Amino acid sequence: MPIATVNPANGETLKTYDALGAEEIERRLATADAAFRTYRTTSFAERARLMRRAADLLEEDTQDTARVMTTEMGKPIKQARAEVAKCAKAMRWYADHAEELLADEEALESEARDSGASRVLVRYRPLGPVLAVMPWNFPLWQVIRFAAPALMAGNVGLLKHASNVPQTALYLEDLFHRAGFPEGCFQTLLIGSGEVEGILRDERVRAATLTGSEPAGRAVASVAGDEVKKTVLELGGSDPYVVMPSADLDRAAKTAVTARVQNTGQSCIAAKRFIVHTDVFDAFAERFTAGMKALKVGDPLDEDTDVGPLSSEQGRDGLAELVDEAVESGATVLCGGERSDRPGWYYPPTVLADVTPAMRIHREETFGPVATLYRAAGLDEAVTIANDSPFGLSSNVWTRDEADIDRFVRDLEAGGVYLNGMTASHPAFPFGGVKRSGYGRELSGHGIREFCNITTVWHG
Ligand code: NDP
Repeated sequence: MPIATVNPANGETLKTYDALGAEEIERRLATADAAFRTYRTTSFAERARLMRRAADLLEEDTQDTARVMTTEMGKPIKQARAEVAKCAKAMRWYADHAEELLADEEALESEARDSGASRVLVRYRPLGPVLAVMPWNFPLWQVIRFAAPALMAGNVGLLKHASNVPQTALYLEDLFHRAGFPEGCFQTLLIGSGEVEGILRDERVRAATLTGSEPAGRAVASVAGDEVKKTVLELGGSDPYVVMPSADLDRAAKTAVTARVQNTGQSCIAAKRFIVHTDVFDAFAERFTAGMKALKVGDPLDEDTDVGPLSSEQGRDGLAELVDEAVESGATVLCGGERSDRPGWYYPPTVLADVTPAMRIHREETFGPVATLYRAAGLDEAVTIANDSPFGLSSNVWTRDEADIDRFVRDLEAGGVYLNGMTASHPAFPFGGVKRSGYGRELSGHGIREFCNITTVWHG
């Protein structure tokens, strides 16, 4: 894929970049290695000062940065501004909490004595340069979710961003530079995915994190496994959104629309499969479909646009194929379902019912504004359908019944269970999945400790 900004709203190529050559990659790896040797010894207070400064600069740049993201990958502009604000919040959260999250842990005196020590403690030391392979869908947030904890822990970052968001990628390097982070603490590598293996095999790179598709995750994790390097993978999702008879149906239907079409449906934690108890199925389907039909599809730079174009022609065509195959195999279209003939890579908000396990759409991730509706006869069937997916990122359940809640929290195969609301990440809570959605956790104390050398310090 060429490294270029191509506006998804009209297909126009705005800027192209040459990939870094071997010499420049080598220079940057050496710079990262040198930067780590000194940066690892800086205090939490110093790192926090720099991180807060980066958050302030990011906020000052909100309008321009939001516009760049919208132009590169098509997200509605108001959502781009919200993404900037979310990043600044996470940066400040880690600036405020990293020291306490990574504080030395003193062992109990009795346990230290039992091991023959006078004192034992656990210290969280940084690992070194970490390679981050990141996607275009939240081009700022996905990177900050990695960079804020990594830099606060004393690691340094090497970003290989998706090839369609080079301007956002370069902005991130510039942001940390302007904030005063020492040279080499955060570098953007403008490279194609073919260069990732060589970089990951370099002994100066100590670990990798990837957010993206399953094939990309498998490729990076295979190389990292071969090199015995730690990885965190945050891959796709096909999150269930379960609606039970005791739910507040109006709120459930209204929230369902947002949960499905946020970021034009291109979110790993978007609700994708709507599993509705038969007693409320028709009422929910009617309200949900009406909400999906009412969305304003249009130019992502317009303030009142709810749904913009998909990020690429390939993404739009892949989604359309999933819908076409489902419809040919008997799915019922409640709204949408036809490719738009306007310029750009638009796809209309679509709701499909009568989806069966034989259809590809049942098992694959729909990365766009397409919802599938399932009818469940009762709680057991709702759990079975919800878990009948290769993915296990998050899940949403609407019910006011405590017994239902106990069952869903016990049985849903996912890294999150969001009750009477929609999944949204927050810096204080762990984020990640099970099954094909990946492993490891981002955010919270769990996230910052993923790339630490958890060191036992034993005093005789
Ligand atoms: P990819 O997974 O291909 O891209 C994500 C990142 O991985 C990019 O930086 C990409 O680089 C890189 N990459 C791709 N293949 C390899 C590889 N073999 N080795 C190393 N790095 C690699 O996502 P796509 O843009 O192709 O989207 C395809 C599907 O992936 C979507 O439809 C969706 O289902 C899922 N996805 C999930 C995301 C999530 O948030 N979990 C985010 C994005 C996509 P380059 O751009 O240069 O190819």
